[in-house]
Amino acid sequence: MKIGIPKETVSGETRIAVIPSMISTLTKMEHEVLVEKDAGAGASFSDQQFTDAGAKIAGSSKDLYQSSDIILKVQPPDEKEAGLFKEGSTLVSFLAPLDNLLLVKKLAERKITSFSMEFVPRITRAQSMDALSSMATIGGYKAVLIAANHLGKIFPLLMTAAGSIPPATVFVLGAGVAGLQAIATAKRLGAKVEAFDPRPAVKEQVKSLGAQFVEMELPEEDVETKGGYAKEQSDAFLVKEQEAIAARLPKVDVVITTAQIFGKKAPILITEEMVKMMRPGSVIVDMAAEQGGNCELTKANETIEKHNVTIQGAVNLPALVPVHASQMYSKNITNLLKHLLQATPYDFEDEITKGACITHDGKIVNEMVADAVQKGGK
Ligand code: NAD
Repeated sequence: MKIGIPKETVSGETRIAVIPSMISTLTKMEHEVLVEKDAGAGASFSDQQFTDAGAKIAGSSKDLYQSSDIILKVQPPDEKEAGLFKEGSTLVSFLAPLDNLLLVKKLAERKITSFSMEFVPRITRAQSMDALSSMATIGGYKAVLIAANHLGKIFPLLMTAAGSIPPATVFVLGAGVAGLQAIATAKRLGAKVEAFDPRPAVKEQVKSLGAQFVEMELPEEDVETKGGYAKEQSDAFLVKEQEAIAARLPKVDVVITTAQIFGKKAPILITEEMVKMMRPGSVIVDMAAEQGGNCELTKANETIEKHNVTIQGAVNLPALVPVHASQMYSKNITNLLKHLLQATPYDFEDEITKGACITHDGKIVNEMVADAVQKGGK
């Protein structure tokens, strides 16, 4: 097979799907690897490193798409890219299919077999293919550094001849993969950290990182799906949660929000009234910005100042850490590809192959996505 790795075209995207040190994994499987010219530049990988690793360089994206049987990407293809695929070829990438229904329809029309990194089932057997976790880990780390940069205070306790400085307090809302990494990073920087997540299993994880779990009296609800994700909460639950968060906000310096519900808009945890209660100079980094934000004032991809609080609508944080983000993503995507290619044609009885597949043989095969298309979404 010929495997193509294009240069990412989305503005601000610095990652590449496969880094030079992973090329040999593909060539050892007797595949030919084509990398688009300068595709690794954003992550500081040169064309020379790719050719040294055994890949060939394609001069243009058209050449690359036209000669590849399989395309490995980071970002969903745009309209132009979607038109370049060879009919019947395979695409493995983040696709955000529920937000990109027009793209999904086009991939089906063009008879592309597409696999979405977001839809790899989060089962133990697929842990090494779980790019959502890898990218959330990088994002959680970076969110804390961004907050530290905006805050006019230092994080650690300092006792000097010039006086004592108490540690900054960081409040992490949502302690999934990104939140737990944010907690660990803020702790390493010396902050006092507190966190909340409605899923019961999280409490012990938060404590094991040395953070305080904020107890909240909330209506009893079934909060977790079988897959370990949070379920959408009722309005009554969110109102109570907002009250409990509001009680903490005047006492914290930084809030990192990561709360998300798979396939849905993010829950609002901080209203404008609550922002007004925060100390002047406080910082919110909202990692749910792309899903609408956990703070009512968040503007995706913008840093704004409102009521003396800096609010950063964090978008694509992994692209700010391109080397390690690409390294982790490379490992995840090549592990998935190895798994998919264990059977040719693909084994759609297999949970991972079936779960990740969005389009095949001219059809939208993922039920959730097909439903969304049928309901007339864009
Ligand atoms: P996510 O990005 O969908 O959500 C982030 C966090 O927001 C979650 O922890 C969720 O509980 C939390 N959240 C939702 N509503 C909230 C609210 N109202 N207030 C505060 N927090 C709220 O989730 P994720 O980090 O990608 O993964 C969540 C969990 O999935 C993991 O912690 C783990 O248990 C499970 N998981 C399992 C595997 C595996 O078994 N292979 C892999 C990855 C994740």
